Amino acid sequence: MLKTHSCGELRPKHEGETVSLAGWVHRRRDHGGLIFIDLRDHDGLVQSVFNPQENADAYAVADSCRGEYVVVAKGTVARRPEGTENASLPTGEIEVRVSEAQVLNPAKTPPFYITEETEVEELLRLKYRYLDLRRETMHQNIVTRHRVVKFIRDFLNERGFTEIETPLLTAPTPEGARDYLVPSRVHAGHFYALPQSPQQFKQLLMVAGFERYFQIARCLRDEDLRADRQPEHTQLDLEMSFVSDEEDIFRLTEELYYSLAQALFPQRPIREHPFPRMTYEESMRRFGSDKPDVRYGLELSDFNEALRDTEFAVFWQVLASGGLVRGLCVPGGAEFSRKQTDDLTTFVQQFGAKGLVSMAFLGEGSIGSLAEEEIRSPVAKYFTVEQAKEMARIAGAKRGDMLLLIADRPSVANRALDGLRRELADRLQLYDPNILAFAFLKDVPLFEWSETENRWVSMHHPFTSPREEDLPLIDSDPGRVRSRAYDLVCNGWELFSGSIRIHRRDLQEKVFAMLGISAEEARRKFGHMLEAFEYGAPPHAGIGAGIDRLLAVLTGQPDIREVIAFPKTKSASEPLTGAPTTVSPEQLRELHIAVTEIEPD
Ligand code: ASP
Repeated sequence: MLKTHSCGELRPKHEGETVSLAGWVHRRRDHGGLIFIDLRDHDGLVQSVFNPQENADAYAVADSCRGEYVVVAKGTVARRPEGTENASLPTGEIEVRVSEAQVLNPAKTPPFYITEETEVEELLRLKYRYLDLRRETMHQNIVTRHRVVKFIRDFLNERGFTEIETPLLTAPTPEGARDYLVPSRVHAGHFYALPQSPQQFKQLLMVAGFERYFQIARCLRDEDLRADRQPEHTQLDLEMSFVSDEEDIFRLTEELYYSLAQALFPQRPIREHPFPRMTYEESMRRFGSDKPDVRYGLELSDFNEALRDTEFAVFWQVLASGGLVRGLCVPGGAEFSRKQTDDLTTFVQQFGAKGLVSMAFLGEGSIGSLAEEEIRSPVAKYFTVEQAKEMARIAGAKRGDMLLLIADRPSVANRALDGLRRELADRLQLYDPNILAFAFLKDVPLFEWSETENRWVSMHHPFTSPREEDLPLIDSDPGRVRSRAYDLVCNGWELFSGSIRIHRRDLQEKVFAMLGISAEEARRKFGHMLEAFEYGAPPHAGIGAGIDRLLAVLTGQPDIREVIAFPKTKSASEPLTGAPTTVSPEQLRELHIAVTEIEPD
């Protein structure tokens, strides 16, 4: 190797040793006579010193160096002169006095600073990702990712799991997104789908008797991108046979996430362990979300009952059409200015809410003694003092607090209040950003009504088992059937979903039928699953856990792109390689494809 040591590993114990280092010129400082170069490699930084009196050739090389030049340098490790140590650098007590140096490759001036964590435009970062990845935070994120994945592999290996790969070119498996398709050259007009997850294969591996499977698997989903979504993401895909109930999965995964966080992120306290368990219904009721952030309160309250006789037209119209009046209490919110409250109204509109009603309680003493003039609300005249007191009581509001209410269809009210909770918690700094607050959710509904498709769709995926006791409802009231699906959430992010699976053909056929999949279509698309269930399929359950999301939460990054080496933009393109690209007419002909529309480059 060109190097005997890495830059980052040198310490006072190496004093006097002759070392060879190779890396990039991180920073170069000319101190009139002496040149200092901070040399950087994968492991870290070390200061190297070039003295023209001691070695004129090496000094001349240093003199010619610019930022990001690749150099090799030989020299002796020495303690830095007293008073010049750098306590913020692990190698800060020593320096390398260079006797020989050579430029291995010069570098153009990078399009952004490698040495500083300055804001750089996303497209530029992605176009020059290899430079972006040299920056310390990004470099560390990728190294941390490796450590997390290694921890997971070791943990599961110790518990008898076998890692098994499953195909990338395969038949579609539904996870609620569009498929990425790959045309077949050999079979004209036929397509493979890239897997939205290895769901069917891992279940077939259970039928094959592996009992404990996992895979660090790439999942490809063509869907609208957000901070926590990319066209391809990596999952810890896991499946176990002979699971007796949800708790078996919870105990295993709780130990995995808890021990991982303790081992690799000891500076991040875990809010509650064992992780709290709640039903989907409870989570929606308390937080309006199936990925609640439980680091702080701001829990939601329902005002339908209290406002049964309301004279406020906006509320009674919503109530009469089956909607909800829900809201939360902002502690100290009576201090908010008009402008702050107006901003929040604009904020909730992005979730489709039509408005936000505020009601602040002023004055001193208990809420019981509240007087009319102590209620501040743009719509105060529509409410009696008794109604206002009752609303304060429901939400646990005191004087000095403010209620924020939304009246809308349940889905809109919940979405907007979930957003509002998060926004307020950020603005009011209601939580310690270091804390990790995990929680399990279970009893997720089996189906949800799709307004766009006008039919029931799987809330999780069609291989999820219904709760046995809810089976009688499957024909009469499908929306109330609870499934055996569950999630793990942390700090408001969904970290995994999974379920106890169906392992009997008759039940699987029934669920397909409910989803509007005809017997013929079920046989054509999923006949292999139905057939496998007739050859001794054990009861089984598993999870698909987002590795990118886990990393984003653990490293405190706002977007999963920050923990993926080569991510795509929000419009699913890759500025580095230019993908997706057009292809030659020849390739298209071979694939039996005619393109009817081309987006200009
Ligand atoms: N296949 C599911 C998903 O990707 C996870 C699971 O049910 O195991 O969300």
